[in-house]
Amino acid sequence: MQTRNWIGGEWITPKGEQLTVHNPSDKQQEVGVLNLSEVSDVLQAGEAARRALRGWAGLTGAQRGEHLYRMAAVLEAHAEEIATLASSEMGKPISEMKGEVVRGIHLLRYYAAEGVRAIGQVIPSTQTQVLQYTKRVPLGVVGIITPWNFPVAIPIWKIAPALICGNTIVWKPAEYASLTATRMAELFEEAGLPGGVLNLVIGRGRTVGNALLEQVELDGVSFTGSTATGKHVAAVCASRNIKYQTEMGGKNAAIVLADADLKTTVPALLSGAFRSAGQKCTATSRIIVEKSAYDRLASALRDAVKDLYVGHALDPKSYLGPVASQDQFEKVSSYVKLADQAELVARGTAQVDPASGHYVLPTVVSGVGADHPLVQEEIFGPVAALLPADNVDEAIALCNKTVYGLSAAIFTQDLSKAIRFLEEAEAGMVRVNLETAGVEYQAPFGGMKWSSSHTREQGQAALDFYSQVKTCAVYYGG
Ligand code: NAD
Repeated sequence: MQTRNWIGGEWITPKGEQLTVHNPSDKQQEVGVLNLSEVSDVLQAGEAARRALRGWAGLTGAQRGEHLYRMAAVLEAHAEEIATLASSEMGKPISEMKGEVVRGIHLLRYYAAEGVRAIGQVIPSTQTQVLQYTKRVPLGVVGIITPWNFPVAIPIWKIAPALICGNTIVWKPAEYASLTATRMAELFEEAGLPGGVLNLVIGRGRTVGNALLEQVELDGVSFTGSTATGKHVAAVCASRNIKYQTEMGGKNAAIVLADADLKTTVPALLSGAFRSAGQKCTATSRIIVEKSAYDRLASALRDAVKDLYVGHALDPKSYLGPVASQDQFEKVSSYVKLADQAELVARGTAQVDPASGHYVLPTVVSGVGADHPLVQEEIFGPVAALLPADNVDEAIALCNKTVYGLSAAIFTQDLSKAIRFLEEAEAGMVRVNLETAGVEYQAPFGGMKWSSSHTREQGQAALDFYSQVKTCAVYYGG
């Protein structure tokens, strides 16, 4: 398969550099070819989105909703195919990838229904015979920049609310999710989405992504990716007075108190830390344990990690597959080197030859201080640090000792300690006896501190971002 751009309803193969995508589960296998765009391609996409805006914004919400229902139906009919392609492109195990596609279908249907929901307020006027009300109107043309780690769900959790609010889109997916993005756009065309409403441009972030931010006439930007890139996105948007949202990195902690039920806690820790090979912004990368439970937890983790099935992403038994790319492998491996100098608590084994793909074995280490890079930096791989704490006070203080603030969890049977944690943890998503990942699509998603700008995604929160409020007043007296 080869990537193509979808601009103004036309499929165009850009003339830039070509990149071959190798399957991260099996480096010998070629999955497809990326045809990278040049700056002129993204400028064209911006113009196409601008041309399509009036027509799309002029539809009723119900009509836009019908388009989203059809997109959901076509995606559902091709769910297996899309999941297989994404697993082969970026290495997420097929069992998880299928769940991600289902999330995408649910998101499309959730926002489709928003087309006929109330969108404003009637506000009593202080004058007689004046009707005063608010309504949401679209932002206009929105730039959407997405990462590779949720190649289906993240684009949809931006595209669906943007469309239902009446915006048109220029979408630049991550390089290592571009085959999946191309196929998704093909399916949306099959679903009858009008040309120009969604424009797909495949290319590198630092050229095409940057030109989208700096040169295309945009009214909004929604970005998910690393904090370093997010800071740049925010600075450019602020200087152009473009409404923006940046969803960025995390360094999420799970606190385990002495009274936690390890039978349910350990599976939640493993899932948080190692599903998707730790490549979730909400992945658990710090496990903070009350000292009196330290030995019990360390031993339970040692046993459980040993049994995790590390294999090819298309093997339905795989709990975790490889990391997504050679770049990712090199970055995560630099942290594995640091982990190898610490005390090893647990390490998994692979069911495949680890050298056949970008495999990194799930690892838990201890003996590192609170300022160590393994405890402070986002690893974005299957490596977690185990940190002892004297009590719940120290545990919450450690949890908050990070520049990030995306998600945090506590495992305990003690209601008052759990509620204290919910109040005091500096994170946008806080969970009791639940893993740090897995927030549901109908609830607001986002972080505090350097994990996020000041908006939320998904649920009703996304509608606030993709629209602006108009205050209308009508004097109807004679
Ligand atoms: P990244 O920042 O390298 O890239 C993200 C996107 O930005 C890609 O499409 C990339 O091409 C583009 N980009 C890169 N440089 C750019 C530039 N100068 N101008 C415009 N666009 C540019 O991130 P990644 O490696 O793709 O994704 C992993 C990161 O994403 C992790 O830090 C993870 O925590 C974060 N993430 C956050 C959330 C969240 O909701 N908070 C969700 C998923 C992933």
